[in-house]
Amino acid sequence: MRTPTQKQILSAFRGTTKSELARVTFPLDFDDVDFSRREFYGWRDRKIPRRAYIVVELDDELVALILTRAEAKPSRRAMCAWCRDVDLSQDAVLYTTRRTGSRGRRGDTIGALVCEDFGCPKHARKLPPAYHKGTDLDMIRGMQVDEMTRRVEAFVAEVLSTQD
Ligand SMILES: [Zn+2]
Repeated sequence: MRTPTQKQILSAFRGTTKSELARVTFPLDFDDVDFSRREFYGWRDRKIPRRAYIVVELDDELVALILTRAEAKPSRRAMCAWCRDVDLSQDAVLYTTRRTGSRGRRGDTIGALVCEDFGCPKHARKLPPAYHKGTDLDMIRGMQVDEMTRRVEAFVAEVLSTQD
């Protein structure tokens, strides 16, 4: 994705209140993030427990959402719904976000079981543990990245689908 500024991200939030936005804290290493190697960017708020954010380009438009991590961890280690990292190198946790529009205002949320620190773009670039000689590894990696991107975009599109 293209490198956004913090200001651009702040104005890209959907379905949030002014007071929620006023408390958004960016990570300390924000300026070092390599957005060219990310199809979406997510981070956890270091000041507000359980609050996190994702930013993605949807149809060329920057969209940001506030997520809330569920209090309870899944009872078993779960695979991330976005990168489907088979190594389970990171615990997947349940994040929920309010839908936009009137359904959201009535408290309707949508959730996804995903990597706790949103390392999905990195995981999607990992190569399979075993492959035949002559396998087109760049193609495999490209497919994994494409599929991960499609799942993240579908989640965000679903959140926005009730906008009114
Ligand atoms: Zn993941």
